[in-house]
Amino acid sequence: MKGKVVLLGTSSGIPTKDRNTTSVYLQFSGDGFLFDCGEGTQRQIFKADLNINRINYIFLTHLHGDHVLGLPGLIQTLDFHGKKRIKVFGTPTTKERIECLLRGSIYAQEIEVDVEEIKPPESVERIYEDENFYINAVSMNHVVDCVGYSFVEKDRTVYRKELIKKLNLTASDFISLEKRGYTKKNGRVIKREELKEIKRGFKFTFVTDTYRTDNIIKLAKNSDILVIESTYLNEEEKAREYKHLTLEYILEIYQEINCKKIILTHFSRKYANLKSFEREIKKRGYYNIYLGYDFFTVEF
Ligand SMILES: [Zn+2]
Ligand SMILES: [Zn+2]
Repeated sequence: MKGKVVLLGTSSGIPTKDRNTTSVYLQFSGDGFLFDCGEGTQRQIFKADLNINRINYIFLTHLHGDHVLGLPGLIQTLDFHGKKRIKVFGTPTTKERIECLLRGSIYAQEIEVDVEEIKPPESVERIYEDENFYINAVSMNHVVDCVGYSFVEKDRTVYRKELIKKLNLTASDFISLEKRGYTKKNGRVIKREELKEIKRGFKFTFVTDTYRTDNIIKLAKNSDILVIESTYLNEEEKAREYKHLTLEYILEIYQEINCKKIILTHFSRKYANLKSFEREIKKRGYYNIYLGYDFFTVEF
């Protein structure tokens, strides 16, 4: 297992008895990435048995309370644990708002909160890059500035193990391959390039609080895991007014986005249960769309 995605909150607006407000935890090779931080997120992290100290990055889609009110508590806890620095990405004014949230209680801050404000990009843009991964972001279509994010593991060149086994290559073949770029085996010339292949990196996308926009498709395309809001079932008028998505829209773009797993979240609390959602998905025969719930986990 390389990592996992854990939903920490799946309700829109306010928490319910069963659902907390929005947050998603991505664990990847020892690092923790938090996407949004609704009130109570840190408690959800503990309940899910995730390591809070591994969180080095927080990505905020927008500044509505149900996506950020968990920040002061979480940051204070990281500080108590002696963490030196946390990097936060968000839309313009994120820095002053986080400072405000942190000033709201008496506490001697030591942790450095490194906020990077990003103007919502019109088209998909790489906003951060590390040795092994990069983060893409693009503007969404909400009532306030809002961005969607993708975490993309960089592609790697790896040896084709099966082929190497089949060809019965030895250590001296590899010396030759390194030196000359080829080796001779049973009268055949084998080039180094033949033995290598590109291993596509893992891609995770998080889309929430938006009405329909082509940017969703551009960002989410070919993701291994897509977590996407489905506040409504098919109430298009409401979705347009409050700038949210319907399940109907997600089914519409299903083929085009070509994602391996789609997890729905941010459900309106007007639904006592999600049976109607389940029925619609089943009707289409799509077996890789999941109805998210708190602590829903996908390993990869
Ligand atoms: Zn929301
Ligand atoms: Zn919102």
